[in-house]
Amino acid sequence: MTEPPEHRPRPDSTYVGYLSRGVDRFRKSVFPKRRALFERLARSQQPKALFLTCADSRVVPALITQTKPGELFVERNPGNLVPVYSTESVGVSASIEYAITALGTHHVIICGHSDCGAVKGILHPEQLAAMPAVARWLRFGEEARGLLQAQHPQGDEGTRIRLLTRLNVLVQMEHLKTHPAVQAALVADRLQIHGWVYDIETGDVWAWDAEQDVFGLFPAEP
Ligand code: ZN
Repeated sequence: MTEPPEHRPRPDSTYVGYLSRGVDRFRKSVFPKRRALFERLARSQQPKALFLTCADSRVVPALITQTKPGELFVERNPGNLVPVYSTESVGVSASIEYAITALGTHHVIICGHSDCGAVKGILHPEQLAAMPAVARWLRFGEEARGLLQAQHPQGDEGTRIRLLTRLNVLVQMEHLKTHPAVQAALVADRLQIHGWVYDIETGDVWAWDAEQDVFGLFPAEP
């Protein structure tokens, strides 16, 4: 776990300067090169996919998929979790409903990743005592931990984390199907659901292959 808050340094105000230089560079040199795209996007968006992934800073959906602004509707939260549908107000549910019903996205990609802190928290809920909100949120991953316990009760930590990351993606794909907007789109054959895991160290993406019952390298090597 990281240091307790009282021992950490004060916020580094020079970082705002770093961000401001980035914004300035975007406005003056990046934006003008893509002006036509942004002017078109100013009026509407028609993303083809809902990309649901972890909040982790190392996962950058547009970079991994080499997509442009306007192509991915992104929902992020710790652990790329999808609560089972309920009438309680949950932001994830709103994103799913809006992406599918209003925007007509035809694909939902649930993307987990290597070295995920949320997956570690799902595996070790006893370490979350100082973060009650995180602990409550990660309960939506409990089912995946149950599957791991049943399938691989032993093994080294790294292997268990890797397996849990994949099981968690599969569990969240099932949770997704409890949402009425998803059910309606699936019945009408208007939606495909994909499960991915992104490896930070290698840049590889592994995709769930339902027919083979495995995660295979995506795209597959020829
Ligand atoms: Zn993560």
